[in-house]
Amino acid sequence: MAAACVLAKGGLDVVVLDEQHAPGGQIYKGVEKVFAQRPQDVPSLGKEYAAGQALTRRFRESGAQYRPGVSVWQITSDQEPELALGLLEEGSARMLYPKHVILATGAMERPVPFEGWTLPGVMTVGAAQTLLKSSRLLPREDVVLAGTGPLLYLYANQIRDLGIMPQAILDTAPLLTLSSGLLGLSALLACPKSVLQGMHWLWSAKRKLGLVQGVRTLKAHGNDRLSSVTYDTHGHEHELSTSLLLVHDGVIPNTWLSMSAGIRHHFDSVQSCWVPDIHGAGSTSRKDISMVGDGVRIGGASVAVLQGERVAHEVEAYLGKKDRSFLTAEPRALSRQRRLRRFLDQAFPPTNDFQLPTDKTIVCRCEEVTAGEIRQVAAGGCMGPNQGKAFTRCGMGPCMGRKCALTVSQLMADARGVSVDEIGHYRIRSPIRPITIGQLADMPLPSENTD
Ligand SMILES: Cc1cc2nc3c(=O)[nH]c(=O)nc-3n(C[C@H](O)[C@H](O)[C@H](O)COP(=O)(O)OP(=O)(O)OC[C@H]3O[C@@H](n4cnc5c(N)ncnc54)[C@H](O)[C@@H]3O)c2cc1C
Repeated sequence: MAAACVLAKGGLDVVVLDEQHAPGGQIYKGVEKVFAQRPQDVPSLGKEYAAGQALTRRFRESGAQYRPGVSVWQITSDQEPELALGLLEEGSARMLYPKHVILATGAMERPVPFEGWTLPGVMTVGAAQTLLKSSRLLPREDVVLAGTGPLLYLYANQIRDLGIMPQAILDTAPLLTLSSGLLGLSALLACPKSVLQGMHWLWSAKRKLGLVQGVRTLKAHGNDRLSSVTYDTHGHEHELSTSLLLVHDGVIPNTWLSMSAGIRHHFDSVQSCWVPDIHGAGSTSRKDISMVGDGVRIGGASVAVLQGERVAHEVEAYLGKKDRSFLTAEPRALSRQRRLRRFLDQAFPPTNDFQLPTDKTIVCRCEEVTAGEIRQVAAGGCMGPNQGKAFTRCGMGPCMGRKCALTVSQLMADARGVSVDEIGHYRIRSPIRPITIGQLADMPLPSENTD
């Protein structure tokens, strides 16, 4: 949205395609509807959420053409003669032929498998928060929250303000070390409001919301659906009866589209996820595609906005609308945000970094492949995730590997004693969203295209 505002103001013909049905992306999901229809919920959703109203209004007034409810299922590779996007719009497939593409596909929750995570009654915090923002759906009082990261605490406080007290918050993050404490101090000086807000959430979780820290070996139990969870703290096992477990282990860049476009990526060991290779503000290994926001590296909404504006100026220069001297140095607000992120990355490491799933844990939930089977094929000489598909069908189900890719690469790297970068990632091919043969067959030919 921020990039589109700058580009439209600069007189460029801008089209914004978004799978969602209203502007706001992930963080400001449903913000226009909440302000118009449920203004009483705005304070509970927080000041950061409320900031989305000004941004969506600026975007609506920018002159950029907004096409909501459109899924991008393909970007032509750099081997093909023309840059083109495959779209699904109102049930029909079509192609769009832009001069340049900015990918701002955001983040997705980091999938972290554990025993019982496939039981009905186990969901992610992000999914629950989406239901809250879009439809004011709240969990029952027996809900247990588990995992790590700021979103866990933000959501706990959001539902508390709406009258729901979770039964417990099981925090799997290790206790703060001296070096993360020092990074915390640096983050406090750089972004005092955010750090103080985080400390307030933590304090309120400790005082009022049943916070348990240092949790290990989380397991969900039940026959047809979840009935209880067990976990360890300091060598003792505990059990809680519950019908709803909400888990969260931080977020990772959503790189499916950029990987399918042939953009170069590498494994970022600090954030433990795959990220695109970026130079300049948002240039990629393909000169006709830029990237910005959490899809590049997890940085948060303010970084996405600041970077969005910088990337827009870079694209204007690429398209010959401005000269490159217009590109400003990185604003100070961005470097302050980076100090905050360094602290968050260290304070909330993902579970897989210190505890990979047990052998009997299902890793690929579509094909029901366990961590033990992945370890077995790796020990038998399997070279990586793509070859692993042939042995196990892991990653070949309807989610196309979204839920298992990262864990499979980490398991194989661990079993073979090499880095995740060396093991690699599933090769991602279009269509990256489901599309029927009928839709493909009915697609207008380039000569009939009206876009
Ligand atoms: C589940 C979840 C909940 C979060 N909640 C919070 C929160 O409460 N507070 C907070 O500070 N941060 C939150 N974050 C982080 C926050 O969303 C990001 O920091 C911020 O939104 C980054 O902005 P962005 O523009 O990079 O991506 P986003 O805001 O995520 O926007 C990405 C957009 O790309 C669209 N898109 C992706 N793929 C396609 C495709 N193939 N075709 C068409 N459109 C596509 C999506 O529909 C989405 O609108 C959350 C993240 C997640 C994953």
